[in-house]
Amino acid sequence: MGQLRLSGVTKSFGTAQVIQPTDLEIEDGEFVVFVGPSGCGKSTMLRMIAGLEEITSGTVEIDGKVVNDLAPVKRGISMVFQSYALYPHMSVYENIAFPLRVAKTPQAKVDELVGRAAKVLKLENRLQHRPGALSGGQRQRVAIGRAIVREPSVFLFDEPLSNLDAALRAEMRVELSRLHSQLGNSMIYVTHDQVEAMTMADKIVVLRDGLIEQVGSPLELYHRPANRFVAGFIGTPN
Ligand code: ADP
Ligand code: MG
Repeated sequence: MGQLRLSGVTKSFGTAQVIQPTDLEIEDGEFVVFVGPSGCGKSTMLRMIAGLEEITSGTVEIDGKVVNDLAPVKRGISMVFQSYALYPHMSVYENIAFPLRVAKTPQAKVDELVGRAAKVLKLENRLQHRPGALSGGQRQRVAIGRAIVREPSVFLFDEPLSNLDAALRAEMRVELSRLHSQLGNSMIYVTHDQVEAMTMADKIVVLRDGLIEQVGSPLELYHRPANRFVAGFIGTPN
């Protein structure tokens, strides 16, 4: 579970084509990082995969099934955003459980899933707190917990750490990598931060102006950048 295939995917807003025809394959369990300058189409790409944005042409397949017409909640995907809204009046437990409440999941199953997420995210001792009593990093973990309980086969992260300070960002990077190895599902992580891309990715997708410039492992991009843009962006001498 967790294979993703984009074939000839494009996106236009009015007359502006912001995603050029894109083909991309993501293997089961891969940690893929989308990197590129602001405005190159990273968020649009994620939102199309998640089903939050209609694609203009092409197909999106998840685990071998075309999902173009499938509602976001039916795609087996969870997305974590840069600005995550927690409910201030609810406990951490209820914030994490929220999608399960919406889905009318039985209480025993809610306990099991929230408990498991809290363990992975080291929030076991914070479940009865309100979000206001947590640190920035803990709050971000609650937002991730809310995504985990839906047991997605693909996890999408859109610049989830950009509101955190540098030290916390470094810590969360390590935690996300650990989370990935524990959960074993595919992750697509969007960032404009080259260091994050180079340290976290199995595979990096470099985007520019709605086009994929190169796809490869951090080492491949470092040693064999396809062009000056990639070399400049990844920071290799070329
Ligand atoms: P990134 O996440 O890489 O910064 P985005 O995917 O947000 O880039 O945006 C890609 C391009 O699409 C930008 O030129 C942006 O202005 C445009 N765009 C994004 N969303 C909309 C929208 N809802 N309507 C019109 N243009 C949009
Ligand atoms: Mg964006």
